[in-house]
Amino acid sequence: MRSMSLLIKNGRVITASEDYVADIFIEDEKIKAIGKDLPMKAYETIDASDMMIFPGGIDPHVHLDMPFMGTFSSDTYETGTRAALHGGTTTVIDFILQKQGNSLKAALGDWRSRSDNNCVGDYSFHMAVTDFNEETKKEIKHFIEEEGITSFKTFMAYKGALMIDDRQMIGLMEEVKKQGGMVTVHATNGDMIDYLVAKHRDEGKLSPLYHYLSQPEVTEAEASERFVDMANYTGCPGYIVHLTCEGALNAVRNATRRNQNVLVETCIQYLLLDASLYEKDFDGAKWVMSPPLREKKDQQTLWAGINQGLVKVVATDHCPFNWEQKKMGEKDFSKIPNGHPAIEHRMELLFSEGVHNGKITLNKFVEVTSTNAAKIFGMFPRKGTIGIDSDADLVIFDPNEKHTISASSHHMHVDYSAYEGWKVTGKVKTVVLRGKIAVENNECKLEKGYGQFIKRSKVNGII
Ligand SMILES: [Zn+2]
Repeated sequence: MRSMSLLIKNGRVITASEDYVADIFIEDEKIKAIGKDLPMKAYETIDASDMMIFPGGIDPHVHLDMPFMGTFSSDTYETGTRAALHGGTTTVIDFILQKQGNSLKAALGDWRSRSDNNCVGDYSFHMAVTDFNEETKKEIKHFIEEEGITSFKTFMAYKGALMIDDRQMIGLMEEVKKQGGMVTVHATNGDMIDYLVAKHRDEGKLSPLYHYLSQPEVTEAEASERFVDMANYTGCPGYIVHLTCEGALNAVRNATRRNQNVLVETCIQYLLLDASLYEKDFDGAKWVMSPPLREKKDQQTLWAGINQGLVKVVATDHCPFNWEQKKMGEKDFSKIPNGHPAIEHRMELLFSEGVHNGKITLNKFVEVTSTNAAKIFGMFPRKGTIGIDSDADLVIFDPNEKHTISASSHHMHVDYSAYEGWKVTGKVKTVVLRGKIAVENNECKLEKGYGQFIKRSKVNGII
């Protein structure tokens, strides 16, 4: 049998550090050669003249088919990873949520029952620890060494559901550091938010605007600083997910002054959207997420943070709900399922608003959409770059094509777009995942089950 091979001719290859024109030869699942005028003959050839080629995107923050607030996020592992591929994201990291009182292993089994054999694109899991005790502690080593799950998510918010206290946080950090993993955090002050939500409800303030007003900047700045202090004390590698605001980023900036290394992720919506969207009555529910959208000055902080190297990753926190589901909170903002759809458009939006509009460089774009996530989460250099023996995960991208984002043309399983009518410059044309053409001519060529679970290596917070 003839082995699968693919030759991509004359593309402009962009990595986190390079920018050059070359051919890429792929055999089976790996990149086998890169160079000018490669002599190899391939089973299939793609002409990528005038196109850019990026490493496949990695979105390390998505929630597919997730039980939350009495419902499930509306993208399954199949529809979510397929939509991701359409937008150039070839690998996602989803979150397993431990049920308080139960083991981590039980949660893994539960999540696997929904994810396994259902993914189109590659995937991995973070393990969210919501109940750290002597039994949980014994499971950490197994997750890192046997399951290839090396990052442990914590919630300082969602009191009574997902939140852990500082005592559990310190205990978890000590164990995770010892075993070679990383602790990641949703850093907002759960007690304070709980108080503000109750206060607004008592006062009959029930519109989506009060979701925003119940989570002011200080709730995030305070928790980020506390998390960073605990990570510094324990020496545990720490990563803050979906950081949104100036106060929180300044807590991280301050930590660098004592030579601490803290890893920061923001999400595409916090760079592009702001809290004025909550003033549109119930329509604002489309953007009800935690933390909420912030102010213009916070967007400026985050763009600057990317260029200063403080913000390492741009993810999505993709967690879609259909309008019917959002309407569960029509009379009470605290019952609106939190989350918005973005998995498909992260790369095109960031390219258009960031690179095309001159806010970040091309290399930085690759760094924050792919390379840094691969390094931070133990997948580099298999993922996150274009190099010999790396997985052939590639995005062939037209930097000039203009198009408009709309729910009528997206592939996510959700009935609205958070970016309806946005005009973007730059389009994903062809996507390759482990040597196979995944997307071509707006069509997905892979079946569910092609997506592989990626076991990750130990990590130490240094990239
Ligand atoms: Zn999330």
